[in-house]
Amino acid sequence: MANTFSPINPPPRLMMGPGPINADPRVLRAMSAQLLGQYDPAFRENMRETQELYRQIFVTQNKQTFLIDGTSRAGIEALLVSMIEPGDKVLVPVFGRFGHLLQEISSRAGAEVVTIETEWGTVFSPEQVEAAILEHRPKFVAICQGDTSTTMCQPLDQIGKICRRHDVIVYVDATASVCGNPLPVDEWQLDAVSVGLQKCLNGPSGSSPITFNERVEAIIKQRWHVEAGIQPKGFVPGTGSRIQSNYLDLAQIMAYWDSGLNHHTEATSMLYGARECARIVLEEGLENSIERHRLGSAAMIAGLQAMGLRLFGDLEHKMFNVTGVYIPQEVNGEAVRRTMLEDFGIEIGTSFGPLIGVIWRIGNMGYNCRKEFILQTISALASTLRLHGMKLPSDGVREAWEVYRAAGQTAS
Ligand SMILES: *Cc1c(COP(=O)(O)O)cnc(C)c1O
Repeated sequence: MANTFSPINPPPRLMMGPGPINADPRVLRAMSAQLLGQYDPAFRENMRETQELYRQIFVTQNKQTFLIDGTSRAGIEALLVSMIEPGDKVLVPVFGRFGHLLQEISSRAGAEVVTIETEWGTVFSPEQVEAAILEHRPKFVAICQGDTSTTMCQPLDQIGKICRRHDVIVYVDATASVCGNPLPVDEWQLDAVSVGLQKCLNGPSGSSPITFNERVEAIIKQRWHVEAGIQPKGFVPGTGSRIQSNYLDLAQIMAYWDSGLNHHTEATSMLYGARECARIVLEEGLENSIERHRLGSAAMIAGLQAMGLRLFGDLEHKMFNVTGVYIPQEVNGEAVRRTMLEDFGIEIGTSFGPLIGVIWRIGNMGYNCRKEFILQTISALASTLRLHGMKLPSDGVREAWEVYRAAGQTAS
């Protein structure tokens, strides 16, 4: 007999790492709705509504605001590969793992990439970025807002304006920061931004909302080449070079969203999910969502510090949704994570590159950024550290609880 295994039945877990997180059950329900044809007027209406919802998430008027089917990296790659023509110069300020990713994707797209680097756990000043622009005269700047590898949140309020002043196009990866940290795209003059659902947007990975303005649209339109089999009569391709990727060709995907020119089959269930993610945030209020993350971060910091643990990086510029904490010398970091996962059902994050074995990353994101889960995580971590032989000055629970009490959010 064929081995069909058992039906999917995941163990109950509380995911308090740097993402993914537990999805809001509303999102899971939306994703289980019946499918529609991609040209069904009812589905086209769902697409239009999704665009309108994400304009509100990005705080933008950009017409070009839609979903890329794929994880966040698909949104990053769609924008970079569609904007960058071989030989274009791209400046990437690198402050963590995801800066290196932007460097790599830009260079695969044929760019001449220059980087500036700052130590992991720090961010760039606007002056540093401006000096690099003046020195290298790039066409594009590609930068992360929140780099979960270091927990840092790069201030962008000046960088967008600096880029505009020097006629540079700026792309931002805000996957991990959107809805947990401020990101007013138009006000900050950010030309192109991509995000994902699995951090502060309460959803699963698998859809990447993006937005870009007319400056970027013009660059992409110039590169518009339509697949031979579906070319409208009299179609005149753009004068720019053909975009290297078919799947992530924003010129074609734009036409698919605008006028229904055939490209891929929209990932229907993911669109239902992405639409519900945005609805949840907007019902709460974008400002309230950010404030909930700010408060969660303050509680997490208070709890961890009260345990006597040392926090990683420049806390002034820490993302509101993830905290890096040095692994105490007395314990084995991976053994602690295993106890947390298998005996308490709570996942906390390890790290990348130079920080492996040095810090854990503990998230308070999206659906999981709530008082109960944060107090449970702090309490479980203190218990786990004690099980592993540590003496702690406090279990951190009272200190974290007090943060919520001061905000009027406790039962007593
Ligand atoms: C989590 C994260 C991603 C995730 O990309 P996926 O393709 O969805 O795995 C991308 N960028 C940043 C900055 C992140 O923190």
